[in-house]
Amino acid sequence: MIDTHAHIRKGDEIRIEGLKWVLLAGANVEESEENIRLAKINDKLWAAIGIHPQEKIKNYELQITNLERLLQENRNVVAVGECGLEFTNPPESPFDKGEQEQFFKAQIELAIKYDKPLIVHSRKAMEETLEILGSYRDLRGVIHCYSGGIKRIKKVLELPGVWYFGIDGNLTYEEGVAEVVKNIPKDRIVLETDSPELAPVPHRGERNYPEYVRFTYEKLAEIWGMSFGECDAIVDTNAENCFS
Ligand SMILES: [Zn+2]
Repeated sequence: MIDTHAHIRKGDEIRIEGLKWVLLAGANVEESEENIRLAKINDKLWAAIGIHPQEKIKNYELQITNLERLLQENRNVVAVGECGLEFTNPPESPFDKGEQEQFFKAQIELAIKYDKPLIVHSRKAMEETLEILGSYRDLRGVIHCYSGGIKRIKKVLELPGVWYFGIDGNLTYEEGVAEVVKNIPKDRIVLETDSPELAPVPHRGERNYPEYVRFTYEKLAEIWGMSFGECDAIVDTNAENCFS
């Protein structure tokens, strides 16, 4: 089992029992630096660096420069993100649409320049996200916590570059997510916790941990009608192909 999207902050308990590795998404520069530090002391923790669209940051250009410095100085960074668009209403991002698109593109350009997969965050913005991703060549990665429904699966598969669908713990309790998952090719799914958020059943509403990704693997095996081991092998191969 692999958790391809978790957040572990300073002082958090690290619960990764039974996992091959966990990819730590970066929501801001400080968290990205902490991810790199954790990845150096624990070889099961892999680091991504990025700035989430909900972050209330100042001086964006300086922050992008800081991200680039982390990429230059740390060969162990495996991905750029999470970054993207947050067009919820009422807004949960401090930035308007145009600013968010600019910040997203700046991080896309880092992913291309340093040849890293991109971790994309998109809420209520899937059309705009796909349009931006489709305008780049040599870009690949994961649509984290995929929420584009059945109708946009084909559009994701038609993007230039190979893209994976990140599926989270809500698969265990939302029938709609299960329906979407049935329509995604098996070789394009990776599983995530987004811990400490989005805990799966039987821990729904509690704090989430990477090791709880097990419950999402179990649910996916049930949906696919195969054994846990078969499901584990397919999904882990996908995660390795996406990020290593
Ligand atoms: Zn996240």
